[in-house]
Amino acid sequence: MITIIPRALWGATPWKGTPNSVPLDRRTEFFVHYDGGHPVGRLGYAIMRAIEAVHIGQGWSGVGYNFVVDQAGNIYEGRGWNLQGAHCPDYNVSGIGVQIAIGGDQEPSAAALAACRALYEEACRRTGRTLAKRGHKDGFATSCPGTKLYAWVKAGMPAGGYQPAPNPGGSLPGGNTGAKPSRKQVTIGGLTYGYGAKGDHVTRVGQALVKAGYGKHYTSGPGPVWTDADTENYAAYQRSLGYSGTAADGVPGETSLKKLLGSIPGKVTAKPAPPFPGRDKFGPGKSNAHITLLGQQLVRKGYGKHYTSGPGPRWSAADNQNVRAFQLAHKELAKDADGLPGPQTWKLLFS
Ligand SMILES: [Zn+2]
Repeated sequence: MITIIPRALWGATPWKGTPNSVPLDRRTEFFVHYDGGHPVGRLGYAIMRAIEAVHIGQGWSGVGYNFVVDQAGNIYEGRGWNLQGAHCPDYNVSGIGVQIAIGGDQEPSAAALAACRALYEEACRRTGRTLAKRGHKDGFATSCPGTKLYAWVKAGMPAGGYQPAPNPGGSLPGGNTGAKPSRKQVTIGGLTYGYGAKGDHVTRVGQALVKAGYGKHYTSGPGPVWTDADTENYAAYQRSLGYSGTAADGVPGETSLKKLLGSIPGKVTAKPAPPFPGRDKFGPGKSNAHITLLGQQLVRKGYGKHYTSGPGPRWSAADNQNVRAFQLAHKELAKDADGLPGPQTWKLLFS
């Protein structure tokens, strides 16, 4: 039996779109690939996530190979047995595509070759036929799978001694598997989120996470500075929404944030109140920019109903009525509600 590390385990992002299904009886060949001109230095799940990032970047649904084999002999699920791959134009239905994760002059390990061969045998068993052994360049003008793997394929893929490798592990992004939490920041609605971000909105996210049951990484707080604990709690929350891979890295996206908070917080630009310009600026016969400012602020605060036009710079009866309405609505101003702004009215109006 072969062991295949499923997408969920290595942290795959959900498919972008829906890859076509291919019944096993349409499979007639088995294609071997390599990673390209450069050696592969990654280990474990990171191999898959790097391939995924490239393939999604090309506009594909996710990893285009049906399977990937690493140098330790681990087999990772890409499109798997039943989904159409994206590895060799015109051969993605008939061919099962497998990348051995090496590049350039890298020597394939005996474990990798054994795992690939075991995968081939399993493919033949499942399809009930002897699949043709191919290298990518048999179907497409390319250097893939490199000289070493191509020679191996042409020699009939000699290998033996496959042993399921122990799970390679590696870190899942944003998970609590020992991985370093993401240090990425994003800006949503004019506010910054992610490691190092500061503000009341950060506290609000933390409090909402705690309330939703995703507060276990806090040893103190939540507080106004975004820490790794915020990232880890947020990642747990993202996973609860069905995100995985880099979509669950603990850095908010607009959708998850809206779900958590009910709405996207906006940037509140707290402007300092303008200084009170003096009583002599207001009243019948006066015309200046302070009167316009006063009127605009009354409107903003919901006391603009007497304006039929404006507000503008010329003092009007509507200004007087609106100021009076504002004064009457505030206990500390009501007893002296003359419809003319004094320093107290001004201060409250702009607070
Ligand atoms: Zn290839």
